[in-house]
Amino acid sequence: MTRTDSVVAIYPGSFDPITLGHEDVVHRTLRVADRIVVAVAHTATQSKELLFTVDERLEMIREVFEDEGNIEVTSFSGLLVDFARDLGAHFIVRGLRAVSDFEYEFQMAQMNRELWHEFETVFLTPDAKYSFLSASLVREVSRLGGDISRFVSPTVLQRLEEKHGE
Ligand code: ADP
Repeated sequence: MTRTDSVVAIYPGSFDPITLGHEDVVHRTLRVADRIVVAVAHTATQSKELLFTVDERLEMIREVFEDEGNIEVTSFSGLLVDFARDLGAHFIVRGLRAVSDFEYEFQMAQMNRELWHEFETVFLTPDAKYSFLSASLVREVSRLGGDISRFVSPTVLQRLEEKHGE
């Protein structure tokens, strides 16, 4: 990827909704990048069933990071490699929670490199306390009325409660 003055990372995902695990990965990325673009994918991978619209997800992420100038929030459709190339990003970042994440992530990184040979994927592991956390578990526990306040920011908690009509 081409080098500009500041190092730019893209963090792509569904973020349905953003969890403290995602937030942890964003802050860790900023130790090695000057700027991070959190990019909500219009097309869900791995046939995920979605709870929030892309606009709702973008609003939540913007609220979570509203005081942080080096974090940009946007959405993208089509191929991630095209989006990364257009943006002039240096690498994309993905979180690795457990071995179970590895196979899919490894395949995707290799396929993206096939599509664009300059494509780099950097994997970061979250704090151990988030290593079991996924957006789908948060959705499920919240839907069943469980307490998820330790896993998401207050703004996300509120949105989840509204969705589930509590
Ligand atoms: P999820 O698997 O939670 O639905 P996304 O599709 O939004 O997540 O994933 C975006 C990226 O964030 C993926 O690389 C995923 O592995 C990573 N990620 C999700 N949750 C966590 C977490 N708790 N800790 C570290 N990385 C995570």
